[in-house]
Amino acid sequence: MPERAPILLVEDEPHIAQGLIYNLQEEGYQVTHVESGEAALKHLDEQNCALVILDLMLPGIDGLEVCRRLRKRGNQLPILMLTARSEEQDRVAGLSEGADDYLAKPFNLKEFLLRVAGLLRRTNWQQMLAQSNIVQFGGNRIDLSNHQAETTKGVLQLTNLEIKMLRQFFAKEGKLITRGELLKSVWGMAPDTETRTLDNFIVRLRKYFEQDPAKPRHFLTVRGRGYRFIKGS
Ligand code: CA
Repeated sequence: MPERAPILLVEDEPHIAQGLIYNLQEEGYQVTHVESGEAALKHLDEQNCALVILDLMLPGIDGLEVCRRLRKRGNQLPILMLTARSEEQDRVAGLSEGADDYLAKPFNLKEFLLRVAGLLRRTNWQQMLAQSNIVQFGGNRIDLSNHQAETTKGVLQLTNLEIKMLRQFFAKEGKLITRGELLKSVWGMAPDTETRTLDNFIVRLRKYFEQDPAKPRHFLTVRGRGYRFIKGS
């Protein structure tokens, strides 16, 4: 468990980002910086953080859309929304999409740091991060932080690639995940690559986590398209 709260900063203006990163690090936070909403969602697919500082106006999908998608996925991590505009309607829009707090640019740095500290204090981020790393389904319990899985068949130590793949499935629970997406995000391969590696991985996941690997209930095949992960009851 990290001692220093990991914070994701989503800000496309370099000079603002630099100032915020410097001051957050001075306060002892561990900062990851991305410049787009797409990059933020991808980062949060792979690892969790204690707080997101989210600029509203971003290239590509904007801060409101990032907020909406995170909440739709069931991600409850605290979000501090930043905006260049100070109109009431933006504030209301941000809060209604699930942001926890809001600050209009230009803001006072001290106030910014107080808001960050306040949100972290309210959320008990250490507990939140510990829980977000545990995934349970069908009698299995997987700890994504130490790669350990307790299954109905015994205790396993999963590999980095297996964890990477499981994170993709868990992030898209209930939704189609294409072979191309898995190849690209797990192995970094071009989505049209022909490969048996992926099939072998799926076989292995089913052997680990399905009661009857021949009749999977969690790692389902969507014929001709890809896979779908279902937690089930
Ligand atoms: Ca911006």
